[in-house]
Amino acid sequence: KPSILKLEGVKKYYPIKGGMLKRIQGHVKAVEEVSLELFEGESLGVVGESGCGKSTLGRTILGLEDVTDGKVIFQGKEVQSLSNRQRLPFKKQMQMIFQDPYASLNPRQKIGAALEEVFVIHTDLSASERKKKVIDLLREVGLKEDHYDRLPHEFSGGQRQRIGIARAIALNPSVVVCDEAVSALDVSVQAQVLKLLKTLQSKYGLTYLFISHDLGVVRYFCSRVMVMYLGNTAELASAEQLYTNPLHPYTKALLSSIPRPSIQKDRKRIRLEGEIPNPANPPSGCAFHTRCPIATDLCKQKKPEWRDMGDQHFVACHHVEKGREVL
Ligand code: SF4
Ligand code: MG
Repeated sequence: KPSILKLEGVKKYYPIKGGMLKRIQGHVKAVEEVSLELFEGESLGVVGESGCGKSTLGRTILGLEDVTDGKVIFQGKEVQSLSNRQRLPFKKQMQMIFQDPYASLNPRQKIGAALEEVFVIHTDLSASERKKKVIDLLREVGLKEDHYDRLPHEFSGGQRQRIGIARAIALNPSVVVCDEAVSALDVSVQAQVLKLLKTLQSKYGLTYLFISHDLGVVRYFCSRVMVMYLGNTAELASAEQLYTNPLHPYTKALLSSIPRPSIQKDRKRIRLEGEIPNPANPPSGCAFHTRCPIATDLCKQKKPEWRDMGDQHFVACHHVEKGREVL
């Protein structure tokens, strides 16, 4: 499959300001050198604990954040080098679905009008054409024509997420970043919304970056999975490979904590010691060494390389072989 979006060594640091003069006192290293290719029509899962940089990565891909270093290349063009005006057509092609669509809806604005805004901003459609578009969209996401005149509070959580999806697909995007898009929903509603996302994907050839802390959902939804820890990529593989043959100790620990027997199989429980370190002051060497059960001195001193294990399976760990034996 052709590549649609490429990240090369992307870093995103946020300055920490303090003191009376608000001087920069350090940086939160939200994303640390992520290189990645997104292929047309795939669903790439991004997993990790909260604060690992998943959301920042999503926002950076969409151009909502400037990168501190590295390149975001979309359809062959480096996004950061474009002017705001030149970026407009790219922005239309990349959309986001959030965990809580309610937060981005005006409680006093009817849903029809809220969705029409997208067309007011980005198209020359007439009022009647816009209305028709919105009604088509409502149907497309499993809502009804008469929802057009309702207010956000009249919808259930699942329906609101459908509205969020309608807004995201309104301008025919090619890439959609889903940031914990189903995490707030009940399991049965989750399944319906995921099914809708899949239907839309095959109908419109959408490419998803699917950010989630729920490894069960990711396994169902995604064809490839990237594991992040403290802004770093720990492992990247096909979903099949990652779930049956995880190589990074952190991935193994995440999988071993899933309470679903179908995934856990005979995996032994790996308990992680301690908390996630502060990203303003990350550990030396391998960022995971403070919690890794098989860390050595080498891990404290040297950041592991991104190793190609064949079969499109990549991992950043000094001790993959040892991990195979003992974890
Ligand atoms: Fe653990 Fe060392 Fe591998 Fe990091 S490099 S995951 S600390 S074994
Ligand atoms: Mg987040």
